Amino acid sequence: MKKKKKNSSASFCRRCARCCSYFCIEIDTPETRGDYDDLAWILAHRNVAIHVIGKTWQLMVHNRCRHLSKKEGCLIYDKRPRICRKHVPGSCEQDQKHRHDYDEVSHIFRTIEELLAYRDGEMRKKRKKAAKRRRRRA
Ligand code: SF4
Ligand code: SF4
Repeated sequence: MKKKKKNSSASFCRRCARCCSYFCIEIDTPETRGDYDDLAWILAHRNVAIHVIGKTWQLMVHNRCRHLSKKEGCLIYDKRPRICRKHVPGSCEQDQKHRHDYDEVSHIFRTIEELLAYRDGEMRKKRKKAAKRRRRRA
């Protein structure tokens, strides 16, 4: 019989409740000025940010779960959703072993200005590439 591995990562859980205080959803990578404008609308709201990890864009919503008690316990523990059940306490950015997950975030946009500065940079790069292609064809 295989010996069950002890889950050592659980000991890293600091009971900070951060994992019950936000959620992330993957969003489409913006391509056009209109796409960036739609994201700017999202950033106009409070407690949201946009993260870029590699080529993946994510909407980050900082919002405490309504079932988190004042003492940072889950009030619906036996009926908590699947995502909560799958989460291994301690396997998060608070744990040094998993810190790399957070380090992979290449951009964080918290304001419209940050996003539009990035957009302008990307558009400039696109224009330069297109001009280069045109010169090669000429
Ligand atoms: S799993 Fe991580 S984020 Fe969640 S309570 Fe524990 S240390 Fe905090
Ligand atoms: S349901 Fe419970 S475990 Fe899930 S996010 Fe809310 S407080 Fe945390």
